[in-house]
Amino acid sequence: MTQTPYAPGSTIGILGGGQLGRMIALAAARLGYRCHIFTPETDSPAAQVSAACTVAAYDDRAALTAFAQAVDVVTLEFENVPVETLEFLAQTVPVRPGARALAVAQDRVTEKMFFNTFTETAPWRAVDSEADLVAAVAALGTPSILKTTRLGYDGKGQARIDAGTDLAEAWASIGRAPAILEGFVTFEREISVIVARAPDGTEEAYCPVQNEHRHHILDTTTAPAPIPDAVAEVAMDIARRAAADLDLVGLLAVEMFVTADGRVLVNEMAPRPHNSGHWTMDACYTDQFEQLVRAVCGLPLGSPQHRCGAVMRNLLGDDAHDWHTILSDPKARLHLYGKAEARPGRKMGHVIILSE
Ligand code: AMP
Repeated sequence: MTQTPYAPGSTIGILGGGQLGRMIALAAARLGYRCHIFTPETDSPAAQVSAACTVAAYDDRAALTAFAQAVDVVTLEFENVPVETLEFLAQTVPVRPGARALAVAQDRVTEKMFFNTFTETAPWRAVDSEADLVAAVAALGTPSILKTTRLGYDGKGQARIDAGTDLAEAWASIGRAPAILEGFVTFEREISVIVARAPDGTEEAYCPVQNEHRHHILDTTTAPAPIPDAVAEVAMDIARRAAADLDLVGLLAVEMFVTADGRVLVNEMAPRPHNSGHWTMDACYTDQFEQLVRAVCGLPLGSPQHRCGAVMRNLLGDDAHDWHTILSDPKARLHLYGKAEARPGRKMGHVIILSE
């Protein structure tokens, strides 16, 4: 196994072929690296801009073995890669971040327990049956939110519980799968922090940003978040502490709620680049994708400082067809992901407007 740093010219393996992989590969190419994508999807956004691609299932051992032998280091852009896939690859090649961070991120109960060792989250109860749900609602009250512990994203696998909600129906609506009930947080705003951590433990955090969702999908990110410095410091410390406790190498994004009285409650984390970090591509000295490449390759981390503020807006589904109008603002920074089919709600690209 080659020792770090992996010099430019090395090959970075990326699990997942979506837009995050595409933007990692573009940043890697700028620094002289090659990327090899592993994804079950053909013509994926990441493969379109990478040196090599393996199209295979995440449990295809033969394909994984060949992939591990063809790359120098592996990272991921997709959170639902099976933990066993990472463990299998790690027998042959360094995998950054490792299985632990992914395992915590994939299970909302494990994630809450992890964060509660050092900080606050919404109050919660594990729910494995309808009877558990009845008891959890009695304990936490309404409104509350029932979420499957695994494989939920963009609001899928969630049900809001109000005073009159039929609990049997709510339990059925999420597929009677292992779940968590969370007390509803009356937040003033939602923020996130992305931190990079290098193999030697060095960390660099981006400033907190404010996120607004529409239909449970990120709509806009405003950077920096308009919050007091003291609250920003608390949020950045939470992200740094989480990355250190997980001994993570790579990026960790932590989504948090800020209440009117300035409390910061963790919602969830992702051990990969994050949609709320896309603004860094045009506004920071080092963007999140380059920072990930630096971290996984053992290069010095770059400055996460922003040169100006920014607003990032996601282009979902047909929004991306407006590319011509968007480009008619000469200062708008348009990023498109090369996806052929603009299904409703699908992330097709984003646009960044920098503040003067
Ligand atoms: P999640 O899938 O956990 O990121 O939830 C999606 C969105 O639902 C969040 O970004 C919040 O806007 C909202 N949400 C999730 N959990 C809670 C909660 N416990 N209290 C209030 N709003 C929540």
